[in-house]
Amino acid sequence: MSDGDASDGDREAGDAAESAVAPDDAFAALGDETRLRTVRELAAAEGPLGFTELFERVVDDPAKPSAGFAYHLRKLNGRYVDTDDEGRYRLTFAGRQAARALAAGVYTERVDRDPEGVDGDCPVCGAASLEARIADNHVAVACVACGTELLALPFPPSGVRGRDTDAVLDAFDAYHRARLRQLADGVCPDCAGRAAGRIAFVEPTALPGVPEGESRPVVAGACEECDFLVRVPVSVALADHPTVVAFLDDHGVDARDRPLWNLGPEWSEAVLSTDPPAVRVSVALGGEVLALLVGNGPTVVDAERTSDGTRERGDNGRNGGGDRDEVAGAAVGGSEDDRDDDQEATASGSS
Ligand SMILES: [Zn+2]
Ligand SMILES: [Zn+2]
Repeated sequence: MSDGDASDGDREAGDAAESAVAPDDAFAALGDETRLRTVRELAAAEGPLGFTELFERVVDDPAKPSAGFAYHLRKLNGRYVDTDDEGRYRLTFAGRQAARALAAGVYTERVDRDPEGVDGDCPVCGAASLEARIADNHVAVACVACGTELLALPFPPSGVRGRDTDAVLDAFDAYHRARLRQLADGVCPDCAGRAAGRIAFVEPTALPGVPEGESRPVVAGACEECDFLVRVPVSVALADHPTVVAFLDDHGVDARDRPLWNLGPEWSEAVLSTDPPAVRVSVALGGEVLALLVGNGPTVVDAERTSDGTRERGDNGRNGGGDRDEVAGAAVGGSEDDRDDDQEATASGSS
């Protein structure tokens, strides 16, 4: 994202330097039903296939001349397909990725479901009126009572297929936890490129379902190599941090039982500084408070456990100055697409 303009205007020049293949050409090579079927058949095969065997699997009528098929195969060869020592065809790394994306329906499918009730109390208003919304390759959990959208992130169609809504939410949680862990380690969850999360302050109007008020801190993750972009509340980005997991465990809570969209009312956030960005994330359980000082990354700069009540004096003298905007139920307003459009939104938009 840091040099986002390269992905627009002079895409061909910029990418050609890296890969020698312009994205337009790479996708054009797949822009034909015979070639797509070839990729699918090779993905489904147990091993490399000879020309005749592949031809028979791909082409409906084997009595057809094979010259046309040979032409399509040449278009794939070298990029999505190559041959082994015996001249049999197999998928390259790019071919396997393309086959996987096709199978997942990333480019072709859109899954929408009617909203459905979800167990648990809203961390903002306490009402037991959460619902899951699965639409346009996104999953969102929102509170009907107070109108807060707790978390909304992209989710591939294959994550929805064959699962009931509870199972979709479990998979959604596992999927994004893993992605956020990779981001925290500086690895793009989409392309393994260099990625980093910085703390950004977002106007409430830019977040779904957040009432008017002060800007909210989020962890904004971006990749230097691809269009990956994610924005989640700081608390959500820390849900799996070892210090948090240990603290919850000490209080008999399994961190995995708290879904990302509802970490619980024990969580709160306070902005200590905007430049450099510093956010305090607190978890209060069983008379004890874990306070994490969080900077870009997200990186936990400092962690402190104190008994309830002593923290106000103990940890930060700056509290008097009006930064007391502890946000209860910090899981507010996650978004991976804020219409700036990240790669997943892009992918679902291309036919
Ligand atoms: Zn609510
Ligand atoms: Zn990437």
